[in-house]
Amino acid sequence: MPTDIEISRSATLKPLTDVAADMGIGEHLIEPYGRSVAKISLDAIEELADRPRARYVVVSSLTPTPLGEGKTTTTVGLGQGFGHIGHRAVIAIRQPSMGPTFGIKGGAAGGGYSQVAPMESVNLHLTGDLHAVSSAHNLLAAMLDNHLHKGNPLDIDPFSISWRRVLDVNDRDLREIMTGLGGKPHGIPRQTGFDITAASEVMAVLALADSLPDLRKRLGRIVVAYDHNGIPVTAEDLRAAGAMCVQLREAIKPNLMQTIEQTPALVHCGPFGNIAHGNSSVVADLIGIHGGDYLITEAGFGADMGAERFFNIKCRASGLTPDAAVIVATVRSLKAHSGKYKVVAGRPLPDEMLAESPDDVHAGSANLRKQIANIRAHGITPVVAINAFPSDHESEKQAIVDIANSEGVRAAVTSHVAKGGKGAAELAEVVAEACEEPSHFHYLYDDSLLLEDKIDVVARRMYGADGIDLSATARKQLDSYQNNGFGSLPVCIAKTHLSLSADPSRKGAPTGWRLPVREVRASVGAGFIYPICGDMRTMPGLSSRPAAEHIDIDETGQVVGLS
Ligand code: ADP
Ligand code: MG
Repeated sequence: MPTDIEISRSATLKPLTDVAADMGIGEHLIEPYGRSVAKISLDAIEELADRPRARYVVVSSLTPTPLGEGKTTTTVGLGQGFGHIGHRAVIAIRQPSMGPTFGIKGGAAGGGYSQVAPMESVNLHLTGDLHAVSSAHNLLAAMLDNHLHKGNPLDIDPFSISWRRVLDVNDRDLREIMTGLGGKPHGIPRQTGFDITAASEVMAVLALADSLPDLRKRLGRIVVAYDHNGIPVTAEDLRAAGAMCVQLREAIKPNLMQTIEQTPALVHCGPFGNIAHGNSSVVADLIGIHGGDYLITEAGFGADMGAERFFNIKCRASGLTPDAAVIVATVRSLKAHSGKYKVVAGRPLPDEMLAESPDDVHAGSANLRKQIANIRAHGITPVVAINAFPSDHESEKQAIVDIANSEGVRAAVTSHVAKGGKGAAELAEVVAEACEEPSHFHYLYDDSLLLEDKIDVVARRMYGADGIDLSATARKQLDSYQNNGFGSLPVCIAKTHLSLSADPSRKGAPTGWRLPVREVRASVGAGFIYPICGDMRTMPGLSSRPAAEHIDIDETGQVVGLS
């Protein structure tokens, strides 16, 4: 099979105005950024409002291995698959961060014959939205430090400052730094650090805002520190939110592209999946929901995390209700959930794992069953998509179909990576059927529930925990958030994505454990509280063989080595 970049380059792409027209979007709402990407004016939300509403489908997965289970490829493939069976679909995915592109994971525009094209554009800079997020974030950091330097009239407690700086690169050496060195004229020395841009609260804010005025308000609500009386200090208090919003006025417009089969693709925002909600933007979905028969959107990580946040954070912000949820499953991930094998990021699968063994697939079934239950806990019909890899055996794929059917769930094998939309036609058929079932969508908890009880509900019902254990610090922080009026926010639990439990080494569906909450932070602008359970990295490092080593420009000026 040709490489991803070769497939992407050989695709025939339509003029973007035609792609937009397929969604009912007129030329006056399209702002071209070169030949293959255009921004869509937010006026489209209102102009498209009278058009029929698409069926809304979220794609997540069972608990992933470090290799990725193929949510993005399945999202793209399913969109193409709908086209293949005569429906108009729009897909919505996150913009990849350049950290992982040059780090371990490679690009995230899909793969094989299910890609958003050109993949170089998706994976590298696109329209500069991530840079705008970095600039807005770092402007607030600079204004905060300047405030301290100029006498600190807001009486900010420097030890309470939680606002760091961001950059879109994997750079572990920036995790902990000292700023303000060099003497009095150069600022006040302070220990701080950098996070990757995807982890910026500004990214989460941009992804959840439903309009420019809403973006402005959310930016103003960002809490950066506390004063000496424990009162929150916001971006509004620092008078930074207006300028930040100006920096983001283009970035808030979704980027329109297309798949290699010319399916409209909205690529917009990329909030981190562990400390933020890991979903693409609300505005993209508000446009896409009137852009075809089906809107398919990807939620990062397993259904217990990505889909749970999609339901309880993103849908709360957008007001949209989903019609069906796809759980991507792979033979290799179910085998990994049997607990017999160790899968390590950046390394090939162990040889024993490639031998035919439907029994191993069955041995890992508890995880899939739990993720099915997690979707149903929100009143939504799940569908299992079996993302086929060349190394899979027929009996093993059939084992997944059997597991799904034993739960009363539709399942289809999909070979979209090898065959494009044609390979996802059966999946599209079963997703269409699932969408016609009555949806009883509901959130997992009410806004009015105490924050502690919200964490407990998610831990028990989604992760299968027996309860939560709050550290003394976490309890104090939760009390302060309740007292400061943040108690009605939803929770976004930051735990490992590699297990349903808080221990990445525990596979399947662990029982008899409790969720330890070490500390709790607040993204007040984005509008969620995030309890931290375990070690959460917000600035990745590079491996001993970064993907960047293989990426280059050839003699014709083309990018090579991007995968
Ligand atoms: P996720 O969105 O779940 O993280 P991706 O869809 O980005 O996963 O896929 C992860 C990696 O696996 C990508 O490099 C992709 O090209 C590859 N991949 C996914 N599905 C298949 C498949 N069916 N066959 C071969 N490679 C695949
Ligand atoms: Mg993905």
